Amino acid sequence: MTVARTMMAGGGQALDGGGWRYEAAGGVGLFRAPALEAAGAVAVVSSRCGGVSAPPFDSLNLGLSVGDDEVAVAENRARLGEALGVPWPRLATVRQVHGTEVHPVAGAGPQGMDADALIGRGPGTAMAILVADCAPVFLLDPRTGAVGLAHAGWRGTAGGIAARTVAAMGEAYGCRPGDLLAAVGPAIGPCCYEVDEPVLARLRASAPWWAEVVRPGRPGHAHLDVPGANLRVLRDAGLDPARVAVAPMCTACDRDRLFSHRASGGRTGRMAAVLALPG
Ligand SMILES: [Zn+2]
Repeated sequence: MTVARTMMAGGGQALDGGGWRYEAAGGVGLFRAPALEAAGAVAVVSSRCGGVSAPPFDSLNLGLSVGDDEVAVAENRARLGEALGVPWPRLATVRQVHGTEVHPVAGAGPQGMDADALIGRGPGTAMAILVADCAPVFLLDPRTGAVGLAHAGWRGTAGGIAARTVAAMGEAYGCRPGDLLAAVGPAIGPCCYEVDEPVLARLRASAPWWAEVVRPGRPGHAHLDVPGANLRVLRDAGLDPARVAVAPMCTACDRDRLFSHRASGGRTGRMAAVLALPG
């Protein structure tokens, strides 16, 4: 996967294309989705840069269930909250299970349920999901002030979780798909994401266009384009592809900035995808 990266002299910023921008905010490396932020939201995926965790969680690990030191994770969460202006305890979170349930946010912090997408509306709405190869899918409706955030690995992608989130925003808040702005954050790319026949069989059954989002691999295998598949899911859900920013960087290739579950052999940190509206 090609990554067009332009270092801006002295600014500590890199433009990564795909409608995403990398910057160091208060010492913490962040990937921002400017189209959504121009509409008034905080729409960010954290990098692994600027935290205090020791290897293999170095350094900005935000996941508590990966074996890292809890004190370090608390410091990392505080640093991210400071950089975003959104304290971690305000972020609604769910227990992510690679499913397709969509949860309407009720208050701040852990929502106490199994789900892989969150929706909400109005000032102060704030949500986060944790990722390390799976694609975070951001949705924002400038007309109604509704937002949605989905966690899409191959299972969620095959289950159409991004489309289910769009549908849930329509039912709950009257959102029209054509009005939505969307962004697909950094995920493992087709360069590195080899899947086997059982996964391919699920993909075949899930969408008629599955062959468009895989590349040939070893016998019995293929390389899956999770971000590309989510763009396709969003298009089928009625979104304008021109209003969807797809991050081109690959978690497994860009290991200086990103955590990759696959590339690390399963022992690594988690990034946070954060979508928040000003309170
Ligand atoms: Zn890659």
